Amino acid sequence: MASFPKPRPDPGDSAVAASLLEWFDARRRDDVAWRGERDPYAILVAEVMAQQTRVETAAPYHRRFMDRFPDVRTLAEAEEDEVLGLWEGLGYYARARNLRRAARRVVSEYGGRIPRAVSELRTLPGVGPYTAGAVASVAYGLPEPAVDGNARRVLSRLGDLETASPSELDRAARNLLGAAPDRPGDVNQALMDLGSAVCTPRGPRCGACPLSNRCQALRRGTVGQRPARKRRARSPERVEAAAVVRRGGRVLVLRRPSDGLLGGLWDFPSVRLSSTTTTAAALTSALLERYGLDCRVGEEIRVLSHTFSHFRLRLAVHGARWRSGEVAQRRPHRWVGAGEFGDLAFPAYLRRLIDEDVSPR
Ligand code: SF4
Repeated sequence: MASFPKPRPDPGDSAVAASLLEWFDARRRDDVAWRGERDPYAILVAEVMAQQTRVETAAPYHRRFMDRFPDVRTLAEAEEDEVLGLWEGLGYYARARNLRRAARRVVSEYGGRIPRAVSELRTLPGVGPYTAGAVASVAYGLPEPAVDGNARRVLSRLGDLETASPSELDRAARNLLGAAPDRPGDVNQALMDLGSAVCTPRGPRCGACPLSNRCQALRRGTVGQRPARKRRARSPERVEAAAVVRRGGRVLVLRRPSDGLLGGLWDFPSVRLSSTTTTAAALTSALLERYGLDCRVGEEIRVLSHTFSHFRLRLAVHGARWRSGEVAQRRPHRWVGAGEFGDLAFPAYLRRLIDEDVSPR
């Protein structure tokens, strides 16, 4: 296990921590559903939801999730479909599957109690250093850093950290935590809130910042360069076609493998397109060869675009009529009637298509 140097708060850290907490106490964002929450399970759910999602967006999902799965045992016993259904629209569905797996692990290995130690929290599926630190500090009052993107920005500017490596950030956060040993959860949350409300990526409001007289980047005129930006290559485009195959009054849907992209969600038969074939021809042969169905592929219904973390999807959706054959796929599939689409979890980018073109409400 990695060992970290003991925090050595100096008077500067103590002054920063005091100003930060004073600001936090006066301006804490009461609109955050789980602010003030101390239940480790509720905090774990909240932190997993807030990964890659704005807190304001995640808050109503958190309320609904906690209403349905109020404790770790209820979640551990839930069907994956139901968990994914409550997650629909939040994206990054691996988080939901991992959260359910984590709940099962907590029940089987920790007697239903969310573990306290970061080293144990990190063994749970989907729990990284940030989430483990947030649960340990907020729920259990342990002096563990929880450095998300907002906290990273504040710490980088405060210390004028050129590279802001994980170890530099960890050290800076631990020094602040050491300066306010009674309130580790609040220090972590205050850093995140300050980054979200004041020390924003563009146009930080340094004049309103409680840390301005201690901020190294402000003093040296490097605020705009901190943290150093990571260069990102434009993600590649993937072009696919999908078919809404109708047989009588029903439509074919298939469940995606649970361990891949959008795992466990339902979608339509699809094929990756190359530049050498037309969309209708590619769909016709894919339906026959891959799905075992002879279909007449019709007009394009609409073209959807969606950006994933590592590629951009462009999806041309066509209507199709089943003529013969039975589905030859190991993936679970169903012929779904009108009114049944609400029972299954689909990727959010398919919802409008379903509601407006496939199964209008
Ligand atoms: S003074 Fe400005 S740059 Fe420094 S921490 Fe505050 S808002 Fe961020």
